[in-house]
Amino acid sequence: MYVIMSTGGLKCLVNKISHPQWFAVTVRPRERKLRVRSITWRLTFWYAAILVIILAVSGVAAFLAMRYTLYTGAARETAAAVSTVQKMASRQGERDNYDRVDLDDPDLIYATGSSVLWVQITSAGGRVLNRSRTLTSALPTPVYLGPPKLSRIMGQDVYLAGGRLPGGATVQVARPLKREEDFLRDLSQVFLLLVAGGLLLALTGGRFVTRAALTPVHNLTLTAQKISTTDLRRRLTLRGPRDELYVLGETFNNMLDRLERGFHSQQDFIAAASHDLRTPVTVIKSYADLLSRWGKNEPAVIEESTEALTRAANLMERIVNDLLMLTQVDAGFPLQLTPVDLAELAGEMLRVARDIAPDMTIEMPPASPVMVKADEHYLYRALWDLVDNAVKYNRPEGKVVLEVGLRQGQAFFSVTDTGPGIEDEILPRIFERFYRADRARGQGKGFGLGLALAKSIVEAHGGKIEVESRLGQGSRFTVLLPRAEPDRPEPRKPSR
Ligand code: ADP
Repeated sequence: MYVIMSTGGLKCLVNKISHPQWFAVTVRPRERKLRVRSITWRLTFWYAAILVIILAVSGVAAFLAMRYTLYTGAARETAAAVSTVQKMASRQGERDNYDRVDLDDPDLIYATGSSVLWVQITSAGGRVLNRSRTLTSALPTPVYLGPPKLSRIMGQDVYLAGGRLPGGATVQVARPLKREEDFLRDLSQVFLLLVAGGLLLALTGGRFVTRAALTPVHNLTLTAQKISTTDLRRRLTLRGPRDELYVLGETFNNMLDRLERGFHSQQDFIAAASHDLRTPVTVIKSYADLLSRWGKNEPAVIEESTEALTRAANLMERIVNDLLMLTQVDAGFPLQLTPVDLAELAGEMLRVARDIAPDMTIEMPPASPVMVKADEHYLYRALWDLVDNAVKYNRPEGKVVLEVGLRQGQAFFSVTDTGPGIEDEILPRIFERFYRADRARGQGKGFGLGLALAKSIVEAHGGKIEVESRLGQGSRFTVLLPRAEPDRPEPRKPSR
């Protein structure tokens, strides 16, 4: 969660944005803490963990499959050895001379495919009649006569199987599993080595890959750290394919563009406001001085000074009002909507405009009432800014026409002047805050706030401002507002 914690201005905002720990910012109800966890290490850890799990699972599966194959083969060999001895015994027909059967016959080994077999023939009375040379001592009793089963004989794991021979004798075969066990032990060691190697590889490789992938993020953090309110010009160098990180960098650069623009317009505004405030302050100071020195007995000086002081105070009042209105607009000003007649409002403005510019031709064709739902105070302010501009930026003998009416179901108020007009390139910018199209032309006339405030106010009323302008001929500003629904008459109560 990203939090802009205070209204400490642009510097604070830039600090928040440029803070390198924007990956993991935890806000708790009591304390607000910025926690940093290295994303490189976390990703590396996850790489390694997943690789180890995959290696371990496939190693265990391969081990079990191999063990199964080897042990089933050994069991099959044991059973085959029992039946081979039974066949050899019956072929030789040596019922009572089982000691002559060659239990180390290579045929037996070849037939079963096993290199080491322990074979023992036991008489019906339990006496060992014959045993292979591989068997150093007798197999344990009781004699087992059945299919191959896992057992432990003479300290070794074996498959043990047995069968009957003619004459009541029995044959038992034990197949030691040492070779398989050795193989499986070696195999498990290889797997363990693989897991350890894989872990090492994942840790080093994963860290390398993650670092490489996160380099743009790192650069972004460094740039953000270097940015200060005194140097908002730095930008990220964007390279490589247009992936998520590229888009992030692009967004960051765009945000910096906006911040820089905002910052410069604020600086412009402060410069313009202090410059414009300095003039009336100087006037007030010099006339106060004049009054205190000569004014006491000179009615002409008193009159001149009072007029100048009033003008200076008016100018200062305008500046302060603009600033105040700006803060109200920023704070989301509450509108108190009431039905307002646009024609009446325009008529009032016509009178004021004629008063302040008696030499100008200011007209308004007769208009019937056009009702809108509006906050009269704010709407008057917005519309007056347009009338004021039409007078301010006009020739002294120029013409201004106010119009009110309906257009496509909407209420409109327009102001047309015969001023210098506005260049096409700057037309979209005149509604920006603190923007003054031509400082030389507009010097002392305003702070570039009028149209911005008018736009915010009109939009808050659900309307919009349109502007058409021709260089050298004049401009026309039109405000379009939703028409107020005429009040429905109260339904009459049915008479009894
Ligand atoms: P300001 O307080 O400086 O008048 P505005 O926001 O009202 O600021 O206007 C912004 C700029 O747009 C002005 O500086 C002016 O150059 C231009 N402008 C506004 N209205 C007109 C107009 N009727 N004719 C020519 N230029 C205008």
